[in-house]
Amino acid sequence: MVTVIITGVAGFVGSHLADKFVNKGFHVIGIDNFLTGSIENISSLLDKDNFEFIEHDIIKPIKLDEKIDIILHFACPASPEDYLQYPLETLRVDSIGTYNTLEMSRENNARYIFASTSEIYGDPLVNPQPETYWGNVHSTGLRSVYDESKRFSEALSMAYYREYCLDVRIVRIFNTYGPRMKLNDGRVVPNFISQALKNEDLTVYGEGTQTRSFCYVKDLVEGIFKISNTDNLNGNIMNLGNPDEYKILDFAKIIINKTNSNSKITFKDLPEDDPKLRCPDISKVQSLIEWKPQTSLDNGLQETIKFLKSKLE
Ligand code: NAD
Ligand code: UDP
Repeated sequence: MVTVIITGVAGFVGSHLADKFVNKGFHVIGIDNFLTGSIENISSLLDKDNFEFIEHDIIKPIKLDEKIDIILHFACPASPEDYLQYPLETLRVDSIGTYNTLEMSRENNARYIFASTSEIYGDPLVNPQPETYWGNVHSTGLRSVYDESKRFSEALSMAYYREYCLDVRIVRIFNTYGPRMKLNDGRVVPNFISQALKNEDLTVYGEGTQTRSFCYVKDLVEGIFKISNTDNLNGNIMNLGNPDEYKILDFAKIIINKTNSNSKITFKDLPEDDPKLRCPDISKVQSLIEWKPQTSLDNGLQETIKFLKSKLE
């Protein structure tokens, strides 16, 4: 049986990844310290024979008896509200945590998949963003705790690839949404949906002209699963996201419409260094693994609204 470690397994993306690997018959060891995740996200996995959970902070090294084949390092707060609340934890998990998981990968000669982010492009001057774009990041701004630790982790991962010929793959994930996002997560999708369901004003930051592209979590997981199980991708950096780009103001109107809400829109200050544009160029990953998102925004939102509604009740 192939043994996979998923750090951040009790989080939004990590728990969906664990579902996929467990259902496909892999032996999954999930690690999490519950900084931003919850046991509820993995409750359906806890009684499965091929799933093990270890409560552990990955900034401390961990020794496991079994041979590990694949490591997916996904532990890290991802919502701007979360990483601004936990700036040092964020810097540690994507520096010391990345180092610890890369070392574990080296000891086991395991394939290593690092969860990077579109944030490494900062406030991009190129749209859409291809992997070859170097980015425009404010290296000491508020958001730098996230952007720069991801950039450091990318550099560290590539150094392990070059120095030790480790089988490293980096996925640069763009805004992803779906069930298991927390109601109070702070990201735009759960914020707008919970506001709309409560008939409260939707809070658009700035004028709402900034853009984002939203990928449904099932599509993202499909891409990561394929990348984890395809040979000869060593040293590749790949964007994963949905290239359909929306202005945030238009997105607010879509949510009001989809939820049949009486909510209005209110404008609040734009957070510091909020990127004005974000859209993935996915041609590289399309040609490497023939992946592209399959879920329409309409269907993805329907599932997400259903989930968040159940949490409100
Ligand atoms: P999340 O906050 O829901 O999950 C992160 C998980 O990591 C949580 O369960 C948290 O408790 C755990 N964690 C944090 N620090 C830890 C530590 N030191 N030791 C062990 N566990 C720790 O976030 P998410 O949306 O699921 O994001 C998962 C990964 O994907 C992150 O690396 C994030 O940067 C990346 N990513 C996500 C998105 C997105 O839109 N969701 C976009 C780009 C990148
Ligand atoms: N945003 C907003 N209202 C909210 C939450 C977010 O207008 O209640 C905006 C935010 O300023 C950003 C975009 O929506 O431009 C996406 O924000 P999110 O926090 O989801 O992720 P980001 O892409 O900034 O990491």
